[in-house]
Formats: sequence, structure tokens, C-alpha cells
Amino acid sequence: MTYWILKCRTCGNTWRLNVSYPLKKEFTKLYHYCPFCKKNTFHDILEYVE
Ligand SMILES: [Zn+2]
Repeated sequence: MTYWILKCRTCGNTWRLNVSYPLKKEFTKLYHYCPFCKKNTFHDILEYVE
């Protein structure tokens, strides 16, 4: 299973996002829904795991 470890820049929480598609590692940030903030925020991609 492929997943990313994301860190929300707003609340600082890290969490795992399961992805069904591989993306290139040049992505270093992602605008995505944060389950802690309950809104879309910028995330740093800490780890990319396959
Ligand atoms: Zn957050």
C-alpha cells in the first residue's frame, strides 16, 4: 500500500494519507483536507512510502 506521511502546516499534526496512485517525489507540499483542522490546509509531505 502506498501512503504519504503528511504534516499540516496549520495545526502541526502528522497523519497518514493512503493513496492509490503513485506520484513523483518532487511534490513537497500538498493542499489537502486536514482531519484535525476539518478544512483544507497546506501540508508538508514528510515521507513517501510504497
Ligand atoms: Zn491541520
